[in-house]
Amino acid sequence: MKIIFTDNYRVQCIKCSKEHTVKQSQSFCTHCGHGFPLELQYTGHAGTFQLPGFMQNLSPLTESALIPLPRCSEKYNAQIYAKCEQELPTGSFKHRGSKTEVLTAIELGYSEIACASTGNMGVSLASICAKKRFPLTLFVPQATPQSKLAAAKKFGARIKYVDGTFSQCEREVSEYVRRTGAFLAGDYYLRAEGAKLVAGEIVSQLGHKVPDMIVVPCGVGTNAGAIMKGFDELVDARIVDKIPQLCVVQSDRCCPIIDSLELGVKMTASQTNTLCSATAVADPFDYVKVKKYIDRTEGIWTKVSDESVVLASKDLAEYESIDCELSGAMPVAALDKIQDKIANKTIVLVITGAGYKDIYIQEEALMKILSK
Ligand SMILES: [Zn+2]
Repeated sequence: MKIIFTDNYRVQCIKCSKEHTVKQSQSFCTHCGHGFPLELQYTGHAGTFQLPGFMQNLSPLTESALIPLPRCSEKYNAQIYAKCEQELPTGSFKHRGSKTEVLTAIELGYSEIACASTGNMGVSLASICAKKRFPLTLFVPQATPQSKLAAAKKFGARIKYVDGTFSQCEREVSEYVRRTGAFLAGDYYLRAEGAKLVAGEIVSQLGHKVPDMIVVPCGVGTNAGAIMKGFDELVDARIVDKIPQLCVVQSDRCCPIIDSLELGVKMTASQTNTLCSATAVADPFDYVKVKKYIDRTEGIWTKVSDESVVLASKDLAEYESIDCELSGAMPVAALDKIQDKIANKTIVLVITGAGYKDIYIQEEALMKILSK
């Protein structure tokens, strides 16, 4: 879908509506503080996707395939598709947002990017920074498995080990950025501008049709919020006339977004001990954006067990020929739980990452289940 680059935008706090510039903050409201994210909004309706003028070198973009899943479709009496984000460079949907972040940093004259990450985001940033010959520093917990960092190191990222959790890494990277003037990358509003483009791809690939429901695994909530923002902007541009119903999937071992939706106040998770590691986030600061679209689309949510996800991932590979990481198989595992709500509908499952990322963890977990 065509993209128009425009200067008719503003960066606003979702709570107090205070306007910011990219230089002032790449993450949270400078007035309300941590936990109150910013959002990029457009003031004109251009008839297609709009992105800020400083992202004008974004093209060409890599698209991912939308594949029908005949076995799932027959089993659940629905038209079910997989949006294969594991096909993107470095094997995850993070590529979309990393590209917008790196380009922004370059166009606005920054000399370094810093990011707290333990996995997919760090590797995708590292690969794009390598291409642009741009310095990247990743803040990672000391306990991060070497295998997860190997590719980021290979692309030339500088690694700073932090004695603590991911939250501690986020605090240290914020301090580092304040001190050095580096560009802060992460699950923030510039990343969402890249991630939203998947909505246009889905509409094109379905022959100019909006699916009835989109099923998204959630950690921070940035991707779900961004995909729905994409559909919303297509409605604003009068390209389509509705947005899909949102279905949020989280692990039953780490589900602060679902807890928050059920209790009506934002919760944090007390533990993040799930095999679906890409969604293991204790403090989902984009909860507000997810809730907005759950409310607007009469959205639904469901929790899945690690065991059901391991089996769903194996089935997806064996019967539909798609190899994804465990977090990416969560929407497939969710189908059993939501089957009474999907009959005769068009459903898109967002498959977020590639199987090679946790293939040995999957194999070990599957052996354990089969030996029971
Ligand atoms: Zn604010």
